[in-house]
Amino acid sequence: MKPITRRKFVEDSIKATAAASLFAPFALNASPSEMAAPYLFTQVALPYAFNALEPNIDAMTMEIHYTKHHAAYIKNVNEEIAAGKFFYENEKDFFTNASKLSAKAKNNGGGAWNHNFFWQIMKPSGGGAPSGKISDAINGAFGSFDKFKEELTKAALGRFGSGWAWLVTHEGKLKIGSTANQDNPMMDSSEFKGTPLLGIDVWEHAYYLKYQNKRNEYVASWWNTVNWDEVAKKLS
Ligand code: MN
Repeated sequence: MKPITRRKFVEDSIKATAAASLFAPFALNASPSEMAAPYLFTQVALPYAFNALEPNIDAMTMEIHYTKHHAAYIKNVNEEIAAGKFFYENEKDFFTNASKLSAKAKNNGGGAWNHNFFWQIMKPSGGGAPSGKISDAINGAFGSFDKFKEELTKAALGRFGSGWAWLVTHEGKLKIGSTANQDNPMMDSSEFKGTPLLGIDVWEHAYYLKYQNKRNEYVASWWNTVNWDEVAKKLS
């Protein structure tokens, strides 16, 4: 689709409506696709208080992470969309066309989505082992829950520099992998592909205040925050 600015889009829509009312007063309704606005990212409300994941994630890290880092990704990607650099109707479209986006849009769009996802797959008093369908799927794919935990931990510790480690479902199978920076497995540009079920942010901003260079201790504690009900929902 041809790039279109939000303002131009609104102006064109008004003109089209005005023209239609002059010449076809009984056929004013544009089809939904003609009236679609560009997709903008929204920051989800944090489902718990900043200190709710203590002692695993400290309150100050949560507050800075949510109000500064995540808020900036949202603002920056929306700025790029509003500048009319591209037009996508939903997040799926946005990420499957990631290779066509500007670096600013791709990096910040990834950051916007990844953190919305991340807040939801954690909860106070989370962790433990899952049960039901997600447990069966994990055991089937990795042999046991302990083996799965070991592999995802390895992916998180093995990611050099900033990035994410993921559990995804891809072509009917559960897989573990990692992405650099704010890339995610839904991006067409990502080597590791799939639909995220669980993910861990291993950027230093996610743990440095409490854990400094000890990413291994952060990852070990993070397991106590996993919201398995939410992960199970994403599988169905
Ligand atoms: Mn982060």
